[in-house]
Amino acid sequence: MKKVAVIGAGITGIQAALDLVKHGVKVYLIEKRAFIGGHVAQLGRVFPTDDSARCVISSKIHDVLRHPGIELCMMTEVTGITGEPGNYTITLKKSPRYIDTEKCAGCCTCTEICPVEVYSEFDAGLGVRKAIYKPYEGAVPGIVVRDAEHCINCGLCFDACPNNAVLQDSEDSAEDFEIGNITSIILSTGYSMYDPRNESRYRYLSMPDVITGLECERMLSPDGPTGGELRRLSDGKIPKSVVFVQCVGSRNAAIGRNFCSSVCCMYTIKNANIAKEKYGDDICVTILKSETRAYGKGYQEYNRRIKQTHKIQVLRCMPGSIEYGEGNRMRIVVEKIKKEEAARTPIVTLEPDLVVLAAGFSPSGGAEQLAEIMDIDRSGDGGFFCPGESVLDPTGPIHPGIYAAGAAVAPKDINDCINQAEAAAMRAYIDTLATREGENADNPTENAPIEKEKHITGR
Ligand SMILES: Cc1cc2nc3c(=O)[nH]c(=O)nc-3n(C[C@H](O)[C@H](O)[C@H](O)COP(=O)(O)OP(=O)(O)OC[C@H]3O[C@@H](n4cnc5c(N)ncnc54)[C@H](O)[C@@H]3O)c2cc1C
Repeated sequence: MKKVAVIGAGITGIQAALDLVKHGVKVYLIEKRAFIGGHVAQLGRVFPTDDSARCVISSKIHDVLRHPGIELCMMTEVTGITGEPGNYTITLKKSPRYIDTEKCAGCCTCTEICPVEVYSEFDAGLGVRKAIYKPYEGAVPGIVVRDAEHCINCGLCFDACPNNAVLQDSEDSAEDFEIGNITSIILSTGYSMYDPRNESRYRYLSMPDVITGLECERMLSPDGPTGGELRRLSDGKIPKSVVFVQCVGSRNAAIGRNFCSSVCCMYTIKNANIAKEKYGDDICVTILKSETRAYGKGYQEYNRRIKQTHKIQVLRCMPGSIEYGEGNRMRIVVEKIKKEEAARTPIVTLEPDLVVLAAGFSPSGGAEQLAEIMDIDRSGDGGFFCPGESVLDPTGPIHPGIYAAGAAVAPKDINDCINQAEAAAMRAYIDTLATREGENADNPTENAPIEKEKHITGR
């Protein structure tokens, strides 16, 4: 049986895996974290339909679990690759979970008794989790993980677990293993958030009431750390005025990030809408931007409808630094750039209770290591993977038999990730057909036209 390795189990990797198994290809879906779903699992609603993100992704996640053709390699990263196109061998390292996965029932009795609390990565550092925990309620796989770095070995979880599923440090360890005879590899490692601390004017993490778009998203999610309420981190109060600052770490040549992060305009308006739906006239929402980029189907209409329904103030401007003003209130001075408005009042001073920074996308943490291992050039915008050699080949191989898709290639919304995942899966499937025929295994993608021709003449 032909095999394809898909690295990264966010929405892109999941979609690619599901498409491949439909064509009878065995898939190894490799995920470095303790759950699958990637960033989509962290979202509340999704634009432009406002459907629940969990509903959008959960059926696909369950299809992955149910399909015998997909082998999930959790908490696993690629450490090496050898071989040639059509027949790669990858070396992997599996981190220890310190849990007997066969015995854990996911009841979380261990979590309840654990005395250690650390910041929750899933809640973007806003909430806390225990040292033995499920990444989030409803996480897949639905079992816990023991974080040995923070565990104080008090032994309470060992005694509490009704199934004796918690393992001692000595009973589990990192494991190296190999998967051979891999025809193609799809890199779907996604993104990480740009760190606004790179630009001191935003005062991120030095002023408590300056948060990122992802933190705002977690707060407004019903299962988030504040139960769906938008709150100031300084005093826990619901803000009366919020300013959303666009293009943080995007479209800024001065910091070497010329590219547009493509989803920030949309996720900002989505969250502005949720805040207005919740608090109505008790909250005043202002968006500071240079322009709106809402390019998808129905996006512009979604944007316009929300702005009109809720009377959201939008200022086309250059925002200055965030400072403390009188009475220790945050203050932002902005310079308008729209000619007609600037002629009347060129400078405006805002005093928001909360500032939300629309931080852009960067390649995911593991991308650099993978690029080194696979000798991949990341010289494109922002260090994302660069598939295809021309504009006419946007899903072309990076190396023969190696493809990249989704937010690992560039900032993208879910729709575009799915499209690219399907295209990469199809390219990888065609590779497997080529090697099945035993033709031109050195360059499997070259075989695509031959297969196509066969299908056409066979009709
Ligand atoms: C605040 C915010 C709100 C958003 N709202 C919306 C919305 O409403 N609608 C919409 O369409 N889009 C939205 N998006 C964009 C959406 O999050 C992305 O389009 C989507 O998550 C990209 O999916 P992906 O699978 O390519 O990447 P990811 O979601 O980043 O998944 C990548 C996966 O790969 C894993 N991985 C990374 N490196 C490795 C490695 N070396 N080895 C193994 N595994 C690895 C990661 O752990 C992760 O599971 C939003 C984004 C943000 C920041």
